[in-house]
Amino acid sequence: MADKDERKTKILVLGGGYGGMMAISRLRNCRKPIEITLVDAKSSFEQRIRLHEVMAGRNPASLRYEQVFSDKVKFIQARVVALQTPERRVEIATPDGDKVLDYDILIYALGSTMDEAAIPGVAEYVHCVNTYQQALEIAVEIVRAGRVTVIGGGLGALEISTELAEAYSQLQVSLVSRSVIADDYPEEARNYLYSRFQKLGIDLYEQQSIEEVSEERCRLGNNEWLEHDLCLWAGGFSVSPVAGQSGLEVDEIGRVVTDPFLRSVSSEAVYAVGDSARVVGADDQPHRMGCVTAMPHGAYVGGAIKRQLLGKPVKPFRFRYVMRCLSLGRAAGLVQFTDSADRPNNFFLIRTGGRWLKEFICRLTFYSVKWELSTGWPIYTWLKGATSGGHDLAQVNTAGGIMMGRSDKVQSIGVEKA
Ligand SMILES: Cc1cc2nc3c(=O)[nH]c(=O)nc-3n(C[C@H](O)[C@H](O)[C@H](O)COP(=O)(O)OP(=O)(O)OC[C@H]3O[C@@H](n4cnc5c(N)ncnc54)[C@H](O)[C@@H]3O)c2cc1C
Repeated sequence: MADKDERKTKILVLGGGYGGMMAISRLRNCRKPIEITLVDAKSSFEQRIRLHEVMAGRNPASLRYEQVFSDKVKFIQARVVALQTPERRVEIATPDGDKVLDYDILIYALGSTMDEAAIPGVAEYVHCVNTYQQALEIAVEIVRAGRVTVIGGGLGALEISTELAEAYSQLQVSLVSRSVIADDYPEEARNYLYSRFQKLGIDLYEQQSIEEVSEERCRLGNNEWLEHDLCLWAGGFSVSPVAGQSGLEVDEIGRVVTDPFLRSVSSEAVYAVGDSARVVGADDQPHRMGCVTAMPHGAYVGGAIKRQLLGKPVKPFRFRYVMRCLSLGRAAGLVQFTDSADRPNNFFLIRTGGRWLKEFICRLTFYSVKWELSTGWPIYTWLKGATSGGHDLAQVNTAGGIMMGRSDKVQSIGVEKA
């Protein structure tokens, strides 16, 4: 039970996407005195996995942070500028000027964005869609457009191109991908994808790079010009440079390098989750960016911090993949099942079955966050695989810190209030 005179532990969450929100929902009913503050540039939690639906004129639900948080959680709408990890402070930019927030424990969950500046013309003529507002602006423009080019070959690009082609019958959609799409899927699943593209009249350019983009056309690697009224970038996610610029150890794309408890290897008071965290799986490969990993990361970290504050043992994070879900417009989908390391197997679900399973997963993500925030009852769960890097022991030492052990080595990593 909480001691009335006990000082509140300040938990600062940067980023209210899938990872940050799951962490908050798990911390919400902590029995120790805590004070949670969320900082996000937006005012609402938006379903990023439905951005392509917004572009197609649909209106998925969102959650206004201020309305869904209990008294325990404070929201500040601001841009995170820098971390001062030795002092346990974060610099933010608000409309009223720059501010500094201090913390005992930080959850870094700034996610990722679709941004690309490497191709000439991209910044000026290619639209990157990261928020409902930007997607709505595309929806307005697209009604007047005749030709749209989508750049990218990942799952997001496939979802965007099929959604737009299905929603706007006047539109000629082209998809340009540097690689073969879904190249590790079984042949029958890929054939289904191709047949769906054909049915929707999408022109597919595989193994083609984009060399240059202008207002009206883009030049492919084979020097062919592709005309467009609108060009959309869906060629991969970039992460915020804030962590790297602030001195935390990051990987080659700027994700915070974490230990098996999802803490930064550079600062014991910093946890990192979601797209902005480099979390290594049981197969020693970094987790792929996705809400499929961001939600388990967030839920785990919320629970781990709670246990740590209560002086209970904390186990390393465990996760295994099950499937990759893809909507192909509103009428069809493709769910590809995988092994624990995300390698496709021979099982997949297509057409309406694939569509319904994908829709079920999308609803599950949103309503889990909403339910847990409003009730404090955890309903979201995930399949736990093996731990990474041979870390399989964890127990609490007498000071309340975490004793983390490998079979050959035991170390104490306590997180104490500053
Ligand atoms: C069209 C599309 C379809 C997708 N479909 C799927 C799918 O089917 N399955 C799947 O697993 N994944 C899918 N994804 C990927 C998924 O959306 C992301 O991986 C997921 O949102 C990552 O969650 P996150 O919490 O790490 O970060 P995000 O959801 O990116 O949230 C980060 C938050 O941090 C805030 N933020 C960022 N920088 C700052 C800053 N400097 N200051 C203040 N606030 C900041 C942002 O406003 C945002 O609210 C899809 C993505 C797209 C675009």
